[in-house]
Amino acid sequence: MNEENTGRCLCGKVTWAFSGEPFALYNCHCRMCQKIHGAAFGTYSFIHDNQFRWTSSTDTVTHYVSSNRLTRSSCSVCGSVVPFRGSGHAKSARASNDGSTDNTDNNYWCAPAGCHDTMRKPDCNIFVSDNAPWHKISGNQPQHDAYPPESGNPGVKGLPTVTRPDQFVRGSCLCGDVEFRVTEPFKLARNCHCSRCRYGRSTAHACNGFVSYDGVEFISGENKLREFKVPDAQFFTQVFCTTCSSLMPRKDAGRGISVIPMGSLDDDPGIQTSDHIFTNHMAGWHEITDGLVQHPEGPPSV
Ligand SMILES: [Zn+2]
Ligand SMILES: [Zn+2]
Ligand SMILES: [Zn+2]
Repeated sequence: MNEENTGRCLCGKVTWAFSGEPFALYNCHCRMCQKIHGAAFGTYSFIHDNQFRWTSSTDTVTHYVSSNRLTRSSCSVCGSVVPFRGSGHAKSARASNDGSTDNTDNNYWCAPAGCHDTMRKPDCNIFVSDNAPWHKISGNQPQHDAYPPESGNPGVKGLPTVTRPDQFVRGSCLCGDVEFRVTEPFKLARNCHCSRCRYGRSTAHACNGFVSYDGVEFISGENKLREFKVPDAQFFTQVFCTTCSSLMPRKDAGRGISVIPMGSLDDDPGIQTSDHIFTNHMAGWHEITDGLVQHPEGPPSV
């Protein structure tokens, strides 16, 4: 029997496994993925129904209908993205015609690669037309403005770009319940590859912007925020919307800073991520080709 590839959310309450290889694996740069992950992109492995199983209770799994084609799932305790079902992928239909007995079924699971220790390299980058202004795409895989043609998936119109009359950079969660603004210039934005960020953001790496504690003001929905602190961590805490599970800014009184998941921003912050930290812990399937400085462990000084 094949060894299974196991995945888990940050808090470990939700676990799953799949056998064999994903039939497709994409880095998705769409605005919805940016918001749900709070990052520059989400990486999704596509797995047939008969390859996938939950290995824990799904009692803490919560769902959010993000478009007429997609209902996304997350862990309601820690905010990690967890696998969800999709349908209509042409590659899936072809592959199951070849191999499996239930060949009328082209349903599949989408599992977030950041929640797996091992994964093959992604096939391509999709929805690169939505790529964030603060992010340069890494890796040499093909880039598509929507889904790759061979997937058979239709183009989905992403979130509209909202231009608001505001002097500040604004951000919001995917469902729109939580809105905030950044009232100071960013000190810095960086990419973090530590395992907590990979599992918490459920993707290759986090992209975090930093301002002072007072530099983030919530405009609406602050009461919708939930926090999860990793029990054995000194600081590591995720903040997310309880409706849609998008990662949201964390105001850290102890350190006097606010940490902003860059994927939540609606406006161009006018800076780019400047470096990569904890690259010794980088996902094996990810590759950095953007030329930014790489620090094997933490930042040299804060
Ligand atoms: Zn969890
Ligand atoms: Zn996406
Ligand atoms: Zn929300």
